[in-house]
Order: sequence, then structure tokens, then C-alpha cells
Amino acid sequence: MTFADGRTVVTGLLVGADGAWSRVRPLLSSATPEYSGKSVVETYLFEADTRHPATAEAVGGGSMMALTPGREIFAHRERGDTLHAYVGLAEPQEWFAAIDFTDGAAAAARIAKEFAGWAPELTALITDGDIAPVLRPLFALPHGHRWDRVPGVTLLGDAAHLSIPNGEGANLAMLDGAELGEAIAAYPDDIETALDEYEQAMFPRRAKAALFEGAEAQGADTDSAKDPIQAMIAEFTRDEPSK
Ligand SMILES: Cc1cc2nc3c(=O)[nH]c(=O)nc-3n(C[C@H](O)[C@H](O)[C@H](O)COP(=O)(O)OP(=O)(O)OC[C@H]3O[C@@H](n4cnc5c(N)ncnc54)[C@H](O)[C@@H]3O)c2cc1C
Repeated sequence: MTFADGRTVVTGLLVGADGAWSRVRPLLSSATPEYSGKSVVETYLFEADTRHPATAEAVGGGSMMALTPGREIFAHRERGDTLHAYVGLAEPQEWFAAIDFTDGAAAAARIAKEFAGWAPELTALITDGDIAPVLRPLFALPHGHRWDRVPGVTLLGDAAHLSIPNGEGANLAMLDGAELGEAIAAYPDDIETALDEYEQAMFPRRAKAALFEGAEAQGADTDSAKDPIQAMIAEFTRDEPSK
């Protein structure tokens, strides 16, 4: 391996835990992340209970989701009386490129325009942010991404299974790391068996795959099957049409 500063190291085990744009992944797979068709705009409201009481009440003590096709607001309460929101818009990257995110107020106003008619306590999550809104385009690796065993090399976390955020990405990355460690400890003299055991358990575990398969098995509509959050909601509400 050659590092960016020119140092080199020879290793018998290389684990790519280097995220969405992994530099290790090409050793195993030609797959590259593709734009999902959706981006989120991230905002924060501080001291919400006193400065934004209506919004704080709408978000409540945990999480709040307001969803329509192509337009979504997810918000949750964080410690320190903070509301943290992801405002999702299903638009191509060019659409977002036309918005100047270096001008926070103008960008917030432009995004809020897309939510005209929504309840003001929800649009306040866009317009009343205490830091400039941050654009986060969402990329994903192909569904079912896997690779053939390559001696001494493997991936974990987003490097292996980057998905549209579904609330499990960090958990899965940590679980991958723990299970890879256990496999190496179980086969200290046989790294190939350790990597094989780890990968065979990791490939089918991916939360996104489970949600996709769940949505398809339930006969969910195509949009739900494409979007893990929609699929999750379909799962929650499957037997309870009144929800
Ligand atoms: C908008 C958004 C919201 C999310 N919300 C949630 C959530 O609520 N819950 C959840 O569980 N997950 C969430 N996720 C997903 C979660 O952030 C990821 O799944 C998780 O961070 C993956 O962990 P990782 O360690 O595999 O990769 P990363 O967290 O990306 O870590 C990889 C690390 O490798 C480093 N690195 C990369 N290349 C190199 C290099 N060449 N040399 C040295 N270092 C390098 C990077 O700097 C980085 O620190 C969200 C993601 C997004 C985009």
C-alpha cells in the first residue's frame, strides 16, 4: 500500500473501512456509488423549546417524519435542546447546483419555497436554522453489492454497502467491524477463512437489502421498494391501515 504522503507498507490484511468513496474498494469490485436521485438539506435549530416552541412541540421528544412524494422533512431532538432536521428533495444534482448554498438565507428560502403550504412549524425547520443549511447528496452502491474473495482484502461499513440513509448505517459499520474482529480472532492462522466467514454473514445482513426484500415481499409499491425509509413505513403500517 502507498499512502498519500508516499510512505509504503506491505501487509497481509487490508480492510477498507474508508467510507463511501473507498480507495480500497476497487481492489475487490468495480462498483461505484451512484446518485440516488435524492438529496437532503441539513439544518439545526438550537434552544428549540424557548426559541422555537411550536416546532419543538411538533417534533416532540423523539423523531418526526412528514412525507409526501419527492418532498420530506425528518427531524429529531438531540441533547441540549437542539432540533436536527433532514429536508429531503427528490431532484437531480443539477437542480441543487442552481442554488447558492454559500448564501445560507437565500438557500433556505429557496428550499422552503418547495414546501409552500406546509405547516409553518415544519417549514421553520428550513427557514429558522441557526447554521447555514448543508446540502448532502445521497449516493448508494448497487443493491446486493458483493465481490469474490480476493486474498487478504475486505471492506466494511459504507465502503461495502453504502445505502440511502435508513438509520442503520453507523450500526451496521460497527457491527461489521466487531464481527470481522471476531472472525480474525477465531481463525488467527487462517485469514482467508476469517474473511470468508465475515463476508458471508455481512453480505445478506445489509439493512437496505432486508428492507428492499421486505418491501418487495409485501407487494409494496415501486417507490416504497426503492426507498428504505418508505419501505420501513410500509412495514410499520402494513397491518394497521388506520395509521
Ligand atoms: C445525511 C445522512 C444521514 C445519516 N443518518 C444516519 C443515522 O441517523 N444513523 C445511522 O446509523 N447512519 C446514518 N447515516 C449513515 C452513516 O453516516 C454511515 O453509514 C456511517 O458513517 C458509515 O460508517 P463508516 O465507518 O463505514 O464510514 P465513514 O463514517 O464515512 O468513515 C470512513 C472514514 O474513513 C476516512 N477516510 C476515507 N478515505 C481515507 C483515506 N484515503 N485515508 C484516511 N482516511 C480515510 C474518512 O475520513 C472517514 O473518517 C447517515 C448518512 C447521511 C449521508
